[in-house]
Amino acid sequence: MTATIFTDEHHKICLDKPGADTYIKISYPLKYGRYSEIETRDAVLQFNLNHEIVRARGKDSKWIQPTEWLKRSMGNDWVYYSTGGYTGVFEATGEYYLPNLPYPTNSLLGGKPLKEPSVMRITHHWYDILQAVKAQCNRPHPAVQSFLEQAVANTPKILEQKAQQLFDIADGRITVMPPDARHVDYDIIPLTISHGCIYKCKFCRVKTNAPFSMASETEILSKIARLKKLYGNDLVNYNGLFLGEHDALNAHAGLILFAADSAFKAFDFKNAYMKGARLFMFGSVDSLLKAPPYLFEKLNALDYRTHINIGLESANQETLDRIGKPITTDQVLRAFDKMQQINGQYDRIEITANFIMDDTLPKAHYTTFLSLVRDKVPRPRDKGSIYLSPLRINAPSRSVLFQFNELKRLSHLPTYLYIIQRL
Ligand code: SF4
Repeated sequence: MTATIFTDEHHKICLDKPGADTYIKISYPLKYGRYSEIETRDAVLQFNLNHEIVRARGKDSKWIQPTEWLKRSMGNDWVYYSTGGYTGVFEATGEYYLPNLPYPTNSLLGGKPLKEPSVMRITHHWYDILQAVKAQCNRPHPAVQSFLEQAVANTPKILEQKAQQLFDIADGRITVMPPDARHVDYDIIPLTISHGCIYKCKFCRVKTNAPFSMASETEILSKIARLKKLYGNDLVNYNGLFLGEHDALNAHAGLILFAADSAFKAFDFKNAYMKGARLFMFGSVDSLLKAPPYLFEKLNALDYRTHINIGLESANQETLDRIGKPITTDQVLRAFDKMQQINGQYDRIEITANFIMDDTLPKAHYTTFLSLVRDKVPRPRDKGSIYLSPLRINAPSRSVLFQFNELKRLSHLPTYLYIIQRL
């Protein structure tokens, strides 16, 4: 694969640049997928294969850090990836770069880089930069001319409309992505196979009031066709499928397998530029406990690595009652045991779990947590991650961070912070 390059004294434009084709955890900025790039004196703009802006950074002296960058999500959010000075970001999140989000979330780390003038110059004016490049390029190669015309056609308004189309297909915005989506840098295609959840916990900010319901096979095929059209040429840059919404594991096993298999074929993940397809979904304590063994047998045989994230929240009854989660500690313990069993039995399935954190929770919440992740797991393991999710939004707390580090140190399972992120 060769890239087309155009240079003059002000710009360098490179079309169809081959980025990394596998997601890896690495401490320098690696760009994934095939993309096109415009480099000016003071900015770098990168575009996907639909000529939509996807990443950018400033090159001016005010830019916070040369190794940090902005990424625009399919939901049209600009996210700033920071190193956090590399201090503790990897230990806390399992990733070398920290996503700083433009909306309130539960992160204990990071600052407010999106409010920095050098960053706002890009998020607010990238389109002016692009238009200026197009106006200044003197007789570019026809391929470059065509690229610039198509990139300019993707105005901020059009990108907003495309995000809205995605929300329409998904029956609403994906308000929370599974923490395991970090393994594909949150580049997931959302295929909603069910709505709502079975608990309606009091503490939860993302729940819907509607009862749990499932999509039909016809609806799923229609969504897949619409997603394929929306992602267009850039589909090859994806290998992650998210079966939404909050408890896809509660859908019939046959429907889960149908959706995963149909999407794999329609999106042609086998021939995607990004290698190693992954399947993500959320599950609940009840849906995990009742899931039949054949579902896991079949999932393990698919061409995906499957990650199922279960909201356990607490193994302490007082805490469960306080947050209004209508389950018992006995159910939580059985779900935890089943999680260990599946993680041990199937090499291509990982069940992960979420627990809450807050400095107002009963002490027993933490002692019971350790009785699971330390006492019930005889040796340290590298599979079956535990995500600790601070309850409060926009309230970074040193004491909660300190507590997290303590729990992580004592846990025998990989333990990370869960930063709530939307698509
Ligand atoms: S935490 Fe999960 S199960 Fe509880 S209300 Fe929210 S989405 Fe539903």
